[in-house]
Amino acid sequence: MTRTKKHRTVQQSTPLKEPTPSDLSNIVHDTTPPDLSDIVHDTTPSALSESIDTEQDQSASQHHPHSEREAQQEASWAHLSQGRWNLDEAERVGFRCTLIAWYRQQRRDLPWRDTKDPYAIWLSEIMLQQTRVETVIPYYHRFLARYPTVFALAQAPLEEVLAMWSGLGYYRRAKLLHQAAKVIVEQHAGEFPPSHHAILSLPGIGRYTAGAIASIAFDEVAPLVDGNVFRILSRLFYLLDPIGSKELERASWQIAEQLVRGDLPGDLNQALMELGATCCLPRKPTCLICPVRSWCRGFASGKVAFLPTPKRTKESPLWQVAWAVVQKEQAILLVQRPEKGLFAEMWELPGLYQPGKTEISETTLLQALQDFGLFASSPQILGRYRHLLTHRKLSITVYSFSEVHALPTTLTTHFRWVDPNNLPNLALSSITRRVLKEIASSHANLQAEEQRFHK
Ligand code: SF4
Repeated sequence: MTRTKKHRTVQQSTPLKEPTPSDLSNIVHDTTPPDLSDIVHDTTPSALSESIDTEQDQSASQHHPHSEREAQQEASWAHLSQGRWNLDEAERVGFRCTLIAWYRQQRRDLPWRDTKDPYAIWLSEIMLQQTRVETVIPYYHRFLARYPTVFALAQAPLEEVLAMWSGLGYYRRAKLLHQAAKVIVEQHAGEFPPSHHAILSLPGIGRYTAGAIASIAFDEVAPLVDGNVFRILSRLFYLLDPIGSKELERASWQIAEQLVRGDLPGDLNQALMELGATCCLPRKPTCLICPVRSWCRGFASGKVAFLPTPKRTKESPLWQVAWAVVQKEQAILLVQRPEKGLFAEMWELPGLYQPGKTEISETTLLQALQDFGLFASSPQILGRYRHLLTHRKLSITVYSFSEVHALPTTLTTHFRWVDPNNLPNLALSSITRRVLKEIASSHANLQAEEQRFHK
């Protein structure tokens, strides 16, 4: 059976018997791979070394064929990559078995790996979005200890949940998690809905997360595709459409839907994730020890370094931020941000945000503070910070004042005095936490100096 049978669909194929879970332990990694002879044009050592050294990937988006031969190759590859999403049944089964067997032998020991509890799986999936595994692990344990069930989470005050999330970033995830917990309690009597379709209707759960929960917790044959899986599939199946394009999305979901069919859909999905996390890395994929290298068209083409095709990114807009340190003895004034938008409902120093490169003037800052009910004078710069968010860059200037009068009548519950040495359980962004920490440490230095002076 060769890859030239491009139009053969899964339905047309003679169904092959897929091994049972117990058979998987006997599977070795060299399950007969598909015949790549019709598509391998260049597997010379130089082509292979290019595929495993992605340091040169800086110019991936500007890659152009250097010779007529290369141009022909690329045209040929582009042709082959089109309409290839109907996988040959033998190829599909062989790939699945090899990948699952590898996963079962090599998977990392992660706390959410050995549970079928949909709540715990959901929590891990939400925490892992845009966040590294090492960062997530202590949060996952703390969160589950505090809220061991959906009921416990639904009953907790949102502010407390946001505080528990503090430091993980992307706080909207925590808000939606809390909202979804309430829906599960109110509409499903606290039982996690056991189908992909129903899970997808919960707040904050998209196609990927629904696929992960349904397949891992309920063994439902549900595919998943995230950034890692886009990368793996674009390399494995030589998908040339750029990241973020509808074409890549469509092709990837079609392939994922075919790959997940069969027993152990949860293991197959986790195996794909594991492959992306440990082997098919964004930079320097370890192709030489990859369990599915025999199936990998990107590897065979020697073009792994150029896959997936990067999307053209716009530069993040720059925003100016001016923050005021208003002190009352050891305490510092924090304000709560609005319900929607950047850092929604988080606590931070009073001040203002403004798009553009022009720094916020002291007069504008003083005026903004008056709007909070604070009358200050003689601002002095305490420090400057740069902070990078997903969609914008912040240039932050922090000021202190020789004198500040707070009008108690205008201060609302959205203001709080906090001791920076002993921060209460408040939802703070990482940059606010950093600034407060530095203020606390400069206070400590100042006190130490004063004590030395008076000795
Ligand atoms: S799937 Fe395997 S062989 Fe292919 S690019 Fe990724 S690591 Fe390399």
